[in-house]
Amino acid sequence: METNLLQKSILYLEGVGPARSILFEEELGIKTLGDLVNFFPNRYIDRTKFYKIAELKESGADVQIIGQITSIQSVGTKRKMRLVATFTDETGTMELVWFRSTKWIAQNLKTGVDYVIFGRASKFKSTFSMPHPEMELRSHFNKSLRTALEPVYPSTEKLGKKNVTNKVVQKLIQSLFLQFQNRFQETLSEEIIEQHKLVSKNEALFQIHFPQSQEKLSKARLRLKFEELFFIQLQLLRKNILRKQKIKGYPFQKVGDFFNQFYKEYLPFELTGAQKRVLKEIRKDVNSSAQMNRLLQGDVGSGKTIVALLSALIALDNDYQVALMAPTEILAQQHFESINRMLGDMPVKVVLLTGSVKTTARKEIHKSLIEGDLHILIGTHALLEDTVKFKNLGLVIIDEQHRFGVAQRARMWKKNVLPPHILVMTATPIPRTLAMSIYGDLDISVIDELPPGRKKIQTAWRFDKNRASVFQFVREEIKKGRQVYIVYPLIEESEVLEYKDLMDGYESIVRSFPKPEYQVSIVHGKMKPTDKEYEMQQFATGKTQILVATTVIEVGVDVPNASVMIIESAEKFGLSQLHQLRGRVGRGADQSYCILMAGQKLSNDAKVRLQTMVDTTDGFEIAEVDLKLRGPGNLMGTQQSGVLSLKIADIVKDNAQLKMARYAAIDLLKKDPNLNLPGNKDIKDTYREIDRKVGVWANIS
Ligand code: ADP
Ligand code: MG
Repeated sequence: METNLLQKSILYLEGVGPARSILFEEELGIKTLGDLVNFFPNRYIDRTKFYKIAELKESGADVQIIGQITSIQSVGTKRKMRLVATFTDETGTMELVWFRSTKWIAQNLKTGVDYVIFGRASKFKSTFSMPHPEMELRSHFNKSLRTALEPVYPSTEKLGKKNVTNKVVQKLIQSLFLQFQNRFQETLSEEIIEQHKLVSKNEALFQIHFPQSQEKLSKARLRLKFEELFFIQLQLLRKNILRKQKIKGYPFQKVGDFFNQFYKEYLPFELTGAQKRVLKEIRKDVNSSAQMNRLLQGDVGSGKTIVALLSALIALDNDYQVALMAPTEILAQQHFESINRMLGDMPVKVVLLTGSVKTTARKEIHKSLIEGDLHILIGTHALLEDTVKFKNLGLVIIDEQHRFGVAQRARMWKKNVLPPHILVMTATPIPRTLAMSIYGDLDISVIDELPPGRKKIQTAWRFDKNRASVFQFVREEIKKGRQVYIVYPLIEESEVLEYKDLMDGYESIVRSFPKPEYQVSIVHGKMKPTDKEYEMQQFATGKTQILVATTVIEVGVDVPNASVMIIESAEKFGLSQLHQLRGRVGRGADQSYCILMAGQKLSNDAKVRLQTMVDTTDGFEIAEVDLKLRGPGNLMGTQQSGVLSLKIADIVKDNAQLKMARYAAIDLLKKDPNLNLPGNKDIKDTYREIDRKVGVWANIS
């Protein structure tokens, strides 16, 4: 259909007056004919089957019957009045009943002609009765655009109250199609349609509203899903290309002494293939004149820190400063220590800036930052304060991105003339499909290989009654010189309860692991930072063998000698948290273990979570399960939910279509970056139209 026709109000249709048009807009967001065409059914009722009255057995089934009305009568008085019609076919008799609009219905019902009725038949005493049936003269029924599968459209309570039934919506769409069928604008190119064996736009729209068979319906759905995902991908990919053209960055043209000296003399191990590949990707990005915006995904322990450090050294070689931001003080501290350790006596000035740095020291840091003799600044949110000014910030590395909002990312840019390059690191693997849709405009690197010599962490799921044998196992591990974490869940609603659980647990552990043979540390959120620090230190240096903790140790803590992770009330943790916690062990060369202690009564989801942990250590696989259990909205937080409100495609389920759509979009942009080829005109028009409306993905970065 010509685009301007689609933009016409639904008032244009017969049967829609001002009141109804307001109702449609308020309840369903439908204003134009275009909105109505794209208002898809959410399910279908099989109308291929016709029942005989004598066949009715079940009470409450939706059935379709052909028959005639033999008599009509009003029963009861005034407000309790109802209209009852006797309905007959060659096998028997039933009743049709109306409680509302009885007068109007009574005037319009015809006796002695064939009707097709549809509705829910319920048995009262020995007769079946159907309240408010949908009915149509058989002669009309045969002529209409009816199909085997009857669409059921989304509705609302208010629409129901105002008698805007599914039937009404169907009729409107039908009248729209009777006028405009086969005149809808194609949105894809012939090439793409052929290559992916899609049906045309006209065919898809017709079959989604009036499916002639299951098969034609599924082809229609496939086409519409593909199209929806395709234009999202096209948008994201083009945005990425445009960003690179538009947003200039500082080119880091050389690799100099800092990097080379470190690589030759200080690198503590050979880089894995994945680390090398990622470093190359980063190097290529920062060497161009566009700003880097890269997401680095790598499972816990995959070695992201060294990649961050090597990237930082490239920035230093080009006379730029680097900021490294971590979500917690402990993690910032840890980065500071491990980076300093790795740098050894190299002339690189690294400073830690967290909330607990005193004012005088802080001023000192600010001064050396702006003067430029400080190279790498590591810290928490404190780095985002306005008083923190760099001489020339060239690279920002953000660890654990999901804790920092996009807004904060943008804030860091404002401190510079040109935006610094940005490397976002996350150990929470984002399922590829989701990453494609949400971060499609970021470049993504993946470290998909663990450093050599790591043994797969053995994971078991145990109940309270197995506690004695679990503790026995712990004793044996400690005898071998290993260390053990025991973690209690953080219950946000009740800090008191959490604290009590932890303390009870701690006491029973101290009883089972008595001094002087065993030393037990404890850390939790209520402790003073200095006490926490002390206890962590005791464990890190091997003075204590067991660390009892809440989830404060979730991220970052690195004690390679710790080889057992016991998670108490494991059913209360989410999958990604369990995965993060497990990642605290398995950092050394020894075989490591993770034991999930769970209660007896478990929800199905909890069982799936625990079993998934037992079955796999692959973070991406775990993330996929998490996505299926919790849905994309919960997984990613609300700020990106816009991108997830798709009309017909499902980011979780329509994996294959998403990939297909993405590759089609990549391929298209390669051949025709500005969509100027005549064959791509329909795509360009549609793209423009979506752009004009500022589509669903407007609210990301
Ligand atoms: P994460 O990706 O979780 O931040 P880290 O950077 O902390 O991982 O690395 C985990 C551990 O693996 C560290 O002890 C680190 O020194 C070590 N490591 C990293 N890369 C390698 C490698 N290529 N070979 C051997 N050990 C490595
Ligand atoms: Mg890390």
